[in-house]
This record gives sequence, C-alpha cells and structure tokens, in this order.
Amino acid sequence: MRITGVHTAVVEANYDWTFVRIDAGEELSGLGECFTAPGLTGIVRDLAPLLIGEDPRDVDRLWSKLRWGASGAGSPGGIVYNAISGIEAALWDLVGKAYGVPIHRLLGGRFRDSVRIYADCHAGEALHSMDATMVPRPARWAQEPPEAIAAGTLRNPEHGRAYAKAAPDEFFTAEMYAARARQVVDELGFSALKFDLDVPTPYQQDTASGTLTRAEIGAMVELAAAVIEAVGPEVDVAFDCHWRYQVADAQRLAHELEPLGLLWLEDPVPPENAAALRRVTESTTTPIATGENGYLRHGFREAFETGAISIAAPDFQKTGGLLEARRIADFADTHYISLAPHCIASPIGTVASAHVAAAIPNFLALEWHGMSVPFWEDLAVGFDGPVISGGRIQVPEAPGLGVELNLDVAREYARENEPFFDE
Ligand code: MG
Repeated sequence: MRITGVHTAVVEANYDWTFVRIDAGEELSGLGECFTAPGLTGIVRDLAPLLIGEDPRDVDRLWSKLRWGASGAGSPGGIVYNAISGIEAALWDLVGKAYGVPIHRLLGGRFRDSVRIYADCHAGEALHSMDATMVPRPARWAQEPPEAIAAGTLRNPEHGRAYAKAAPDEFFTAEMYAARARQVVDELGFSALKFDLDVPTPYQQDTASGTLTRAEIGAMVELAAAVIEAVGPEVDVAFDCHWRYQVADAQRLAHELEPLGLLWLEDPVPPENAAALRRVTESTTTPIATGENGYLRHGFREAFETGAISIAAPDFQKTGGLLEARRIADFADTHYISLAPHCIASPIGTVASAHVAAAIPNFLALEWHGMSVPFWEDLAVGFDGPVISGGRIQVPEAPGLGVELNLDVAREYARENEPFFDE
C-alpha cells in the first residue's frame, strides 16, 4: 500500500475549513481537517512530496518525518502543525478504512459510546465569518449590508489585544445571553454551553491595556449569572476571555465569578506564559482552561507540571494530530487534568475529535462551534442521522472516520483561488 496523492480543499464557512485528502491508489483515500491559518494549503502542498510513495499505515513514522522535515520552520509548534494535524488525521481515516475499523479502535478503543458536546454560543448576529487572519468578512450564506460589503469590511475590523471584537455599538445584554442559552438548551438539547465573556460593555475603557474596570467586571458577571440562571442546575456553562487580560484583572474577574460555579473560565490571560496563568489558577476556585494555542505534548508540559491549568483544551486540528492528542490526554491524566478539546471544525474535524474523545478516559466535553453556519450538518454524508443530536455525537462504528464530505455542498462554498482536491 503506497500513498499516491495529497490534495486540499478549503470551504469558506465561519472559518476556512481546510481539508486534506490522501489517496492510496484509485480505491482508497482518507480525509482530514486542519485548523485555519494563513498559507496553510501551501504548507500541505510543500509537505506532500515527503509522503508520496510511503506506506500510509506507518502513521507515526510519517508524522515524525513531516515534523523533522519542517524542523527548520519551527519544530516546537506553529502553523506547520496545523498542516501536519490534517494530514495525520487523513492517514488515520485511510488506515481505518484499510483495516476495516473505526479510528477510535486504532487509538486504544473507547470509553464511551457517545461524546458530550458543548455548544459555543453567540448572542446577536456578530461573528458570521472570519478569514485566516481573524478579520470578519461577509458570510457567503447571509445577506450582509451592501455598504459593508462595498467597504470590504464588516463591523469592526480593528484588532484589539486579541482578535476583533463585535462592533462597539452592539452590546450584548443579560437578557440576550439568557434567551440564547435557553434556546440552545431547550431546542437543541445541549447540557453544556460556552459564551464569550470578553464582549464590549458600555463601561469599556481601553481594549489595548488588558485591564478591567470594576464596572466592566460587574457587567461581565451579570452576563454570566444570567446564563447560569437561565439554564438551571443541570446544564454546565463555560466562558471564554480570548487571552485578553492582565493577571490582576483576570484574578479579580475569576474571584467575582466563583459563586456561579462555572464549568471553566477560558484563557483569561495570554497563552504563552504558564507562570502568569498559574498565578490566576492558584488564586481562584473558578476552574481555568487553556490549550487551543498549544502544540504537541511538549507545549503542555510546563502548564501540567506546574499546576497552571485546571482543564486542558487542545485543538486536535492543530495540536499535532489525533495520536498526539491521545498523548496529550495521557500526559494530562498523570496530573489528574481533564480535556475539553477546542474545536471550530466542520463535521469532518469534529467527528475526528470525537474519536479521540471516545478513546481517552479523562474527557470532559468537546466543542461545537458551527451553530451560526446553516450548512454545517449538510456538509456531512455517510453518518447515521445528524452528526450532533441531543448535544452528543454517537461515536461512529464505520471504518475510518465514519463520515464523508458532501462534495456538492463543499463545492458550493469552496474558497475561490484555492484547489478543490484534484478537480
Ligand atoms: Mg477559546
């Protein structure tokens, strides 16, 4: 069995869903998904010659070959691993099909038949679609204001401390958050939700400093409390801060949130300083989560070993692949830390993540970030029923990934000036 082709396609959704297809002859292929990044498909194309002619069943050796092939471009982490992660996942799909077993069986078998999903929720209409540099763009499926499209920007393209916020004239109210939370729980049946907490408030003073006024913290706690009260005691709720605050401000916020019993508070401070994060984590009983910027097990070592985080949130389309995700989970488990994998993927990447989530003991909940994309479910074929049902994903039993890409839908939203596989 030999690899004969490596192809990419990009679907323009709320993010650029970037797919890798690996062929082993005419009859056998595997599909993987990468986390969006500038120049991503070019990296996959540059790595492809390292794979052609190789035996796809040697997944870990090929992963290592790609890793060392890119060593001069930064072996500890970075965009090259977004590419490698999609390639590695495609290899597992291919190998699973070749052996006739689902991916989770290749990762050690499963602890659970279905995987708990948490819904990433947004109030209002913001955050339709973001390009690879996290700048808002007109959603291909939505009617956007003509003047915004003509200007080439939507709402607020300005980057603050982290990526762009919603328009400063659009303030989410506690009532909006509570209504959305109730809708997601009542209509879709989720038992875990996440909302952004770093949203503009009328009290916002300065987006560059990473500081919070007492009034801002009060407004944030009011939003969080409204969600918690709306969903009742049987639904868990997390809140995300997107790396925005200084240690002292994050400590004050986390402290004020303590009575609410959050599932976690995510990325209250920037991600690259584990010692700073540890100061936040040790100061509060609010569980602190981070990890979507972490690459490889090495990228989590300091945080695990020093007690900097309560919950690890690696992104399996980015962190180094499905087997590396399993290794990170095992490493976390030696420190009694659970995983709540970050995921902004299409059904392809989300189901790949669900295979890992099924195969690790220390799993908490997997993210679903596709609520604002009307064709998210339509992109999946070959799955038995909806991919997400009642806030869970049934772990597929079919060989490989257990879901295929709906090529007609993918083609409809394919990004211009990008290859669409080998068409
Ligand atoms: Mg996050």
